[in-house]
Amino acid sequence: MSTMNIPFLDLVTPHLQLEQELVSMFRNSLRSAAFIGGPVVEGFEHDFAQFCQVKHCIGVGSGTDALRFALMAAGVRAGETVITVPNSFMATTEAITQTGAVPEFVDIDERTYNMDPGKLRHHLETQCDLEPKTGRPISRRSGRPVTAVVPVHLYGQMADMDAIVAIAETHKLMVVEDACQAHGAEYFSTRENAWKKAGSMGKAGAFSFYPGKNLGACGEAGAVTTNDEEIAVQVRMLRDHGQQKKYYHLIEGYNGRLDAIQAGVVRVKLRHLNRWNQQRQKCAELYGKLLAELADIILPVEPSWSRAVHHVYVVRHADREELRVYLGDKGIGTAIHYPIPIHLQKAYQQLGYGEGSFPVSEKVAREILSLPMYAHLQPEQQQRVA
Ligand SMILES: *Cc1c(COP(=O)(O)O)cnc(C)c1O
Repeated sequence: MSTMNIPFLDLVTPHLQLEQELVSMFRNSLRSAAFIGGPVVEGFEHDFAQFCQVKHCIGVGSGTDALRFALMAAGVRAGETVITVPNSFMATTEAITQTGAVPEFVDIDERTYNMDPGKLRHHLETQCDLEPKTGRPISRRSGRPVTAVVPVHLYGQMADMDAIVAIAETHKLMVVEDACQAHGAEYFSTRENAWKKAGSMGKAGAFSFYPGKNLGACGEAGAVTTNDEEIAVQVRMLRDHGQQKKYYHLIEGYNGRLDAIQAGVVRVKLRHLNRWNQQRQKCAELYGKLLAELADIILPVEPSWSRAVHHVYVVRHADREELRVYLGDKGIGTAIHYPIPIHLQKAYQQLGYGEGSFPVSEKVAREILSLPMYAHLQPEQQQRVA
């Protein structure tokens, strides 16, 4: 017990438990040679749309593809500006840039680590001018119209979507959800008086099935969710070289399809996702109890409108590095999501943000530490971590 190593992530156990089912799915793919598209992909798209309570799901090659295609299909064009947060995975802004738009940031809420709607409103009201003809905001920073906002449901908890959607409506912005860490997360919408799933509240939502996500493939995979038929049609074309019919290309697209073997994997695993998410919720509760006594540790906050799925369990400590080394010496795996806010990444030097541009994101990036968190994590393991 005292020498027990606890990995940050265990991707082996869940696959061993499902090995027979996964191998027989793989065998069917081999024997039918249905590798791209086909009934398994369509079956998964049907199941995942149902899971997210949306009309359409379109399987794509990765979460990055999903974000890029969702933004393009929702109508983001080259020369525009898209607002997101600085504390996310780089893919969020890569997808924005790859549409030809420029990313711009607003800071986060220090309690939830997600987009602060007050700062979004403030940015639109004080850092943008209204274009007289269209009523659209023009960013003073980029000189370009702001057309969309990408809230990131970070760590498995949804952003404050009612507020974000209301602000977006006022300023004529499209909302595309980065739900890559939030498969099954829920938000109580006062506007709709209902619990809403991640990926069902914006014009479109983007999911990643990278192996370490709550729903992970055995390789690369992703999906777009939407209630908008036209967006679904566009994403289907974008993922498949812009063709609606084989060799009839209506637009120039991409090679961004979901392959049938990965679709089969996530389809099998989707049946277990609700249970796995519940196990993660139990783990988060137990961490909450075990760590409550430790005065120096800031625990995750879950507002009453949120049912998080705890993709990662992030605590904060003033001397994060010391804590990380200490836990590492005891054989306890940790990670940092993420050590450098996007606006300070070397790749975005040309955007011209400096140290101090987003104080909350920058402070949090110095203090956060992700503890081991997965559905199969055992109470004894959590006790040892604590
Ligand atoms: C994983 C992730 C992505 C990208 O997904 P890929 O499948 O790796 O392309 C995008 N945004 C966030 C917040 C993520 O965690």
